[in-house]
Amino acid sequence: SIITNSNLSTGTETSARADGRAFDELRPLKIEAGVLERADGSAYVEMGGNKVLAAVYGPRELHIRRIMMPNKAVLRCKYNMAPFSVDDRKRPGPDRRSVEISKITSEALTPAVFLEKFPRSTIDVFIEVLEAEGGTRCAGITAASVALADAGVPMRDIVVACAAGKSNGQVVMDLSEVEDKEGEADLPIAMMPRTGEITLLQMDGHLTGEEFEKALDLAVEGCKRISEEQKKAIKNRYGD
Ligand code: UDP
Repeated sequence: SIITNSNLSTGTETSARADGRAFDELRPLKIEAGVLERADGSAYVEMGGNKVLAAVYGPRELHIRRIMMPNKAVLRCKYNMAPFSVDDRKRPGPDRRSVEISKITSEALTPAVFLEKFPRSTIDVFIEVLEAEGGTRCAGITAASVALADAGVPMRDIVVACAAGKSNGQVVMDLSEVEDKEGEADLPIAMMPRTGEITLLQMDGHLTGEEFEKALDLAVEGCKRISEEQKKAIKNRYGD
């Protein structure tokens, strides 16, 4: 159910990772397609303690001439964190961080979508973070892509996102919130798994060249595993 909580780490374990995961292990993952009635497409993703909803509206006619494209659709993304999604209440409304994440989400998804099929239109993607535990931008992109597929938007591939990084001196897959905040580096990526094309790559912190290669490999591996769950979620919704 939406409200069950994942095992939160006490941080006292002797394992290298606070939550006891292996360096190349994802947090528990759950993906469901078609969870909202009014949206044209929707998805719900749980990744560890992250709980994220994505809703897609469109393609539909765009009346705002300033942003309308005569030969293709625009893909507008809005990432929002609920005030109750984090320990310290988050001040409602857009801030620098959510504006940035909205922009990079749109850029991560755009290469996969056949926007040229819908001139003068918009496809609107809303991402709502209900609970956050590190890696919400990746969970949001993963959810948005399933929601786009659920909406029947024609795409080259289902974009998927996963982070890797360095925490406690170790390069690890899918950073948790503590690993993200106290760790040495965070490397979120998004990709089109079919071609391996990377559509988002951000990095926070410091990695040597060798560590970067290792983190990138782990993030790609994480993406491939999450991609399988995305496909299962879409199959569950529509049968084979
Ligand atoms: N976070 C928070 N308050 C905020 C923003 C973020 O507690 O206002 C937490 C949240 O758990 C988030 C994590 O910090 O997942 C890491 O945030 P970051 O900006 O690195 O983005 P994310 O990893 O979620 O994509």
